[in-house]
Amino acid sequence: MDSKKRTSKRIAVIPGDGIGREVIPEAVSVIRASGAAVEMTEFDWGADRYLRDQTTVPPEGFAMLGRDFDAILVGAFGDPRVKTNIHAKEILLGMRFKMDLYANVRPVRLLDAALCPLKGVEPKDVDFSVLRENTEGVYTDAGGVLKLGTADEIATQEDINTRKGVERIIRYAFEYCQTQTRLDGSPRSKVLMCDKSNAMTYAGGLWQRAFKEVSAEYPKIAAQHMYVDTLCMQMVRDPRQFDVIVTNNMFGDIITDLAAALQGGLGMAASGNIHPGRTSMFEPVHGSAPPIAGKNVANPLGAILTAAMMLRHLAFEEEADRIEAAVLEAVRQKKTTEDIGGDLGTREAGDWVAGQVSGKGVSS
Ligand code: ATP
Repeated sequence: MDSKKRTSKRIAVIPGDGIGREVIPEAVSVIRASGAAVEMTEFDWGADRYLRDQTTVPPEGFAMLGRDFDAILVGAFGDPRVKTNIHAKEILLGMRFKMDLYANVRPVRLLDAALCPLKGVEPKDVDFSVLRENTEGVYTDAGGVLKLGTADEIATQEDINTRKGVERIIRYAFEYCQTQTRLDGSPRSKVLMCDKSNAMTYAGGLWQRAFKEVSAEYPKIAAQHMYVDTLCMQMVRDPRQFDVIVTNNMFGDIITDLAAALQGGLGMAASGNIHPGRTSMFEPVHGSAPPIAGKNVANPLGAILTAAMMLRHLAFEEEADRIEAAVLEAVRQKKTTEDIGGDLGTREAGDWVAGQVSGKGVSS
């Protein structure tokens, strides 16, 4: 059966490791509370499974996800017991690379001025999205080591940039700019390409040429450029200037941690790994955070906002709106975990949002 034709959508849920196993159940409860017509199936991929039977991804696992599900909700991978981190690499990077989820979409939105470490910055001032290329760059693990462990050791790490890969993420950014609105409902109008083409001339040259050519197809959208170091400075100095940012895999990884700090920290940041028309994957930006795992202190709001982003992608607009409104209310009323100023645990914060979303309030 073609799953895309079903009215009820099928979601694969993979909590993974560490705080992923605490925040994803909260996101799942909130999805249930929203009443969205979805069927959720949980998978145990992660460190425990790997340590038990050496399985990272079961045979045909990615093909099964693409065939049988409309979307995938993921927590985080990483566990101190698996020193090589092989399971995280095979599951998470495997999903991004093998399912060709080339657009990593990371919205950066400040819900309440109190969450921003910058002075005088209001929610309307931090409302941009970073589109990170997700399948190339330095994350392809191309490279090698010569004369390992000697004084003459040579290590290379290749930065892979293909014309096809660069062009499609840039085009995705312009399409995104054309179709997405800001929180206040106004249209988006600018795409900024971020690189380091003054020092990394070969890869940078390809990005520059592709950006120039693709931007010419979108005359109504302003095309801008900034070197990544300048962008970091400007993001702290004046985040108001940003709208849609498109960049490579590594710069996207780094600047979205910086951007997450503008919206209240890693616990607040959501993301989607998207290939238009295919099964896409949604995950909070944070990792498994071993130091705080298992303590009921992790902030579940990033995972809950990720769930809202996934529902919106699946055309459950009204449900996504209700979830985002409930998260905003939780932040305003400080019904949150300690990292953003509340005194609730992970479960209690999740319950509060689920109560708001269902309209029944918190039962406990
Ligand atoms: P990865 O390399 O996979 O990104 P990491 O352990 O290096 O993982 P994170 O897991 O993202 O990085 O977390 C770094 C720190 O940020 C955590 O130790 C924790 O202090 C804080 N943090 C991350 N996520 C949350 C959250 N949901 N709630 C509260 N604090 C968080």
